[in-house]
Amino acid sequence: MRERFRLMHVHAHPDDESSKGAASTARYVDEGVRVRVVTCTGGERGSILNPKMDREDVRANISAIRREEMDAARAILGIEQEWLGFVDSGFPEGDPPPPLPEGSFATQPLEVPVARLVRSIREFQPHVVTTYDERGGYPHPDHVRCHEISVAAFEAASDPTAYPEAGPGWEPSKLYYHHSFHRPRTEALHEAMLRHGLESPYEQRLADWKPDPEHDKRITTRVHCADYFPARDRALLAHATQIDPDGPWFAVPLEIHQENWPTEDYELARSTVSTTVPEDDLFAGLA
Ligand SMILES: [Zn+2]
Repeated sequence: MRERFRLMHVHAHPDDESSKGAASTARYVDEGVRVRVVTCTGGERGSILNPKMDREDVRANISAIRREEMDAARAILGIEQEWLGFVDSGFPEGDPPPPLPEGSFATQPLEVPVARLVRSIREFQPHVVTTYDERGGYPHPDHVRCHEISVAAFEAASDPTAYPEAGPGWEPSKLYYHHSFHRPRTEALHEAMLRHGLESPYEQRLADWKPDPEHDKRITTRVHCADYFPARDRALLAHATQIDPDGPWFAVPLEIHQENWPTEDYELARSTVSTTVPEDDLFAGLA
């Protein structure tokens, strides 16, 4: 039954597919859904976030290494994956921030990446597409750009007069935004750690985080996927330059996480099929 469904995740960098929605991805793959990740950039300007990998030989070969990491994560999650072919814009730091590097993903005229993504959508024919919300999940210019091109391509893909050179039209049924690291989830995990007498990795983050209940209320869909948290963690660890195995990502023991926040959460942003929210399935409403 699920075998006929196809799910496309559009992400900015290699590793984003493993940090956002990876456990629900692994669950859908297990149920027979075909899942394709489109990775907009090669992650060439990402910092090395794992001190054990912050070495000269790694820095000199970062593009090739991030491709190998992506290959490993792809195999762990059982997904298909394609590179959209743009160059990472990097995270501009400084006051004022420096201009984005010329030619990078976020500086491209919108229609250039949209044309490529429309082609991917028409070729793969997904029923469901996911991306980030308009804030990008976090304010990296490539994440905000990823949102913009995903929404534009979702709308253009079904219009045969738009990007006619990108193949015959296909209408995906639903578009979702990831809500991966919202405050209620962080609070629940923080409180669970304290109840277990453990040190919470979220103390400072919560202290600095202005509550935004209106944004949190946008979640429509909670996909139960706690059984697949181990697969998510393995996929994340495959991105060895991006994840410190001794860092805050893995500070919450698996069982505590499974018990206290067993879902990955999404916002239904567009739907051409009739569905009732709240949902527990990205394919709800699809016959
Ligand atoms: Zn990213």
